[in-house]
Amino acid sequence: ARASALADSTGPGATKDGHAVPLLANIGGPKDVGAALENGAEGVGLYRTEFLFLDRSTPPSADEQEDAYRRVLEAFPDGRVVVRTLDAGADKPLAFLPAPAEEPNPALGERGLRMTRLHPEVLSAQLAALARAASGLPVKLQVMAPMVADAEEAAYFAGVCRDAGIEHPGVMIEIPAAALRARDLAPEVEFFSIGTNDLTQYTCAADRQVGALAGLQDPWQPAVLDLVAPAAGAGVPCGVCGEAAGDPALACVLVGLGVTSLSMSAPSLPLVRAALARHTLDECRRAASAARAARTAAEARDAARAHLPHLA
Ligand code: PEP
Ligand code: MG
Repeated sequence: ARASALADSTGPGATKDGHAVPLLANIGGPKDVGAALENGAEGVGLYRTEFLFLDRSTPPSADEQEDAYRRVLEAFPDGRVVVRTLDAGADKPLAFLPAPAEEPNPALGERGLRMTRLHPEVLSAQLAALARAASGLPVKLQVMAPMVADAEEAAYFAGVCRDAGIEHPGVMIEIPAAALRARDLAPEVEFFSIGTNDLTQYTCAADRQVGALAGLQDPWQPAVLDLVAPAAGAGVPCGVCGEAAGDPALACVLVGLGVTSLSMSAPSLPLVRAALARHTLDECRRAASAARAARTAAEARDAARAHLPHLA
């Protein structure tokens, strides 16, 4: 099945009837660019920048950051690169900052944008390095913040981006409040990217670090799909960059819900490209409706697959 899927798996992402869905890669740094290109990524949909900052006693210098960002940006001259600003917290503390307060629930604590707002010099240095790295390059640089809850936070982030010369700010949608009120966040930013890993964790109140809760940590949960819909319908381009985007059947469902691009680990790209190429946008929409009408994650998966007959 994999070999036949790979046979129809080149070129840009699109449904059978030609509805374009850019297929992008999740990367952790320049070392991941090769695999992204080999698997036909049209760009980067999630550049997790934590690796530059963790496990070191001094912050990365301006030159070090600029160099890492430029090596990624140069690899996609005709594409886009979506960089996520630092997503650290009490569970991933930064040794060069004062120790964060002990938190009983780090997933609900000062992480992501909440944390960089406490240390605005870290955020502004990162944004300045990104702007310098992109200057003179043809790539479209988009920059997004993690863990955004509401329109005020989205407006704050867009403001600091524009002050730093970043023209295309966006936010991750990974908190249910942000998904429910996506229409309030949309006017503040240029794009959304749904992080289904955290969105599922917060929707089902199931800590993603607790293996025993894996059954609830399932993006097929109809409640999660119900939160994707308003984000995808809020009037700004809306990608998905959580693990869900790399599941071929769920990728079709997400497209049926109105998601405009999919970003995943590079090895998942060929099978997702093939699944989209074999189904029409209408089939994806019917699969999405069937999944949302289901009562459980397992039923949603089965209901969607019944409308997607050509999965590998
Ligand atoms: C997510 O939450 O879905 C996501 C893409 O970000 P991370 O897995 O890095 O939290
Ligand atoms: Mg996340």
